[in-house]
Amino acid sequence: MRVLVISDIHANLTALEAVLTHANHVDAVWCLGDLVGYGPDPNECISTVRTLPNLQCILGNHDAAVLKQIDSSAFNPEARQVIFWTQSELTDANLDFLANLPERVQQDQVTLVHGSPRQPVWEYLLDTQNATRSFAYFDSVYCFVGHTHLPVIYQQAQEDQSATLFIPEANTNILLKPRAILNPGSVGQPRDRDPRAAYAIYNPQEQTWEYHRVPYDVSSVQNRMQAAKLPDRHIQRLSSGW
Ligand code: ZN
Repeated sequence: MRVLVISDIHANLTALEAVLTHANHVDAVWCLGDLVGYGPDPNECISTVRTLPNLQCILGNHDAAVLKQIDSSAFNPEARQVIFWTQSELTDANLDFLANLPERVQQDQVTLVHGSPRQPVWEYLLDTQNATRSFAYFDSVYCFVGHTHLPVIYQQAQEDQSATLFIPEANTNILLKPRAILNPGSVGQPRDRDPRAAYAIYNPQEQTWEYHRVPYDVSSVQNRMQAAKLPDRHIQRLSSGW
């Protein structure tokens, strides 16, 4: 069984389409939140995600802000500007879809959240200290997270339960060991200085994590962002993947 694991699409339809084409046939899709924010295609991305097979989709902090569940003052001025723009763009049906997203789902051996199992919507898992603490907040073998836009695997050591950080190499297949917290990286706004869209394929029978990077037409997205008058900084950062 091939489960496509994606996160932080951030309204970037060109990146999402490149990922879906590259992943080819999948049996299920687990999407870890932040479908909107930053990018120019919020309706198109939500409409596409809604059609994906056996979908599990989680609420992200940008999704929650667009729904006014989080005060937009918690965001920097540029991100806030795009949250307001997204609110003015979204159709009722797509807003409704976001409004029904859960913050946390357990799917067989895996817990799905946007940020962390401790604070599903907001906490950034950026270091081993935080990751070590996080293992106490889920019972499943694995936890899949997004939010940082950085592809990473935190492996729990059997001896002392501490987490070690492992950054996978692009386009490799990794055999998983219990227990671990895994981040597939970001589809629509990578931040590891690699502009290519990131995703993973999880195979629950074989216990593998295929981690991939896919190039996409960044300039076409930047043109649409310019036309929508979205912030310059967000337009520029797509070129260098930060
Ligand atoms: Zn995000």
